[in-house]
Amino acid sequence: MSFFLVPALVTLRDEVNTRFSHRDKASDGWIGDPSHQARKSSHNPDWAHGGAVRAIDVDIDDKDPTADLRLMVVEAARHDKRVWYVISNGVIYSRTYGFAPRKYKGSNGHFKHVHVSVVENPAKWTDTTRWLSSEPVWKWNPEAVSDLALVQKQFQIAAGARKGARKRYHGVATIQNALNVSFLPKGQKLAVDGWAGRATVNAWRGFEAKKGGTGREITPDPVSLKHLRILDRFRGQEAQ
Ligand SMILES: [Zn+2]
Repeated sequence: MSFFLVPALVTLRDEVNTRFSHRDKASDGWIGDPSHQARKSSHNPDWAHGGAVRAIDVDIDDKDPTADLRLMVVEAARHDKRVWYVISNGVIYSRTYGFAPRKYKGSNGHFKHVHVSVVENPAKWTDTTRWLSSEPVWKWNPEAVSDLALVQKQFQIAAGARKGARKRYHGVATIQNALNVSFLPKGQKLAVDGWAGRATVNAWRGFEAKKGGTGREITPDPVSLKHLRILDRFRGQEAQ
């Protein structure tokens, strides 16, 4: 008997290949290697269903300085009706827990690739609805500086609490994207430009108020970000 990747995941792979035509596929995978076959894994063919393989690994090296393949796939997959769970950077987002991020305790934390497993219901396997959103996502800006500790300063400057030079930081862009994805309704999305201006500060305060902040989260310093859990979905990205 032969095995095959379920059509829903073939669609995902095709979309990723089209969007990231120069990407590195070195750690791509779908069919289980001998170490997978020795244990229960959704990379192994399901012989009860004709050899269907229900999981895919997508290498995150997108070779695209303007986008983030890992973030795009995680965001696309973690609330999709076809998905059971997603693993990325040592974090698992499972339907079982409402797709909330949880530390992944398995043997492979999927640091070089994103893992997507579809649900056990075969009816979902042939659903080839488009995965990737055409909405803007966080973009890498080579002019910007990555330092979360400096984000607080940016917000203080934007709020008028501190004078400072206009400089852009990736941490701000990450927060803007997180606010867009998880908090702001359509029509009120922020420009993901890495600049903490009035709209970004107001969005942050709205988010903070709704989350029941302690009142100390006027600016998104690392402690308040942790408390408000806004960066949980991007855990690991700041460290790269
Ligand atoms: Zn995998």
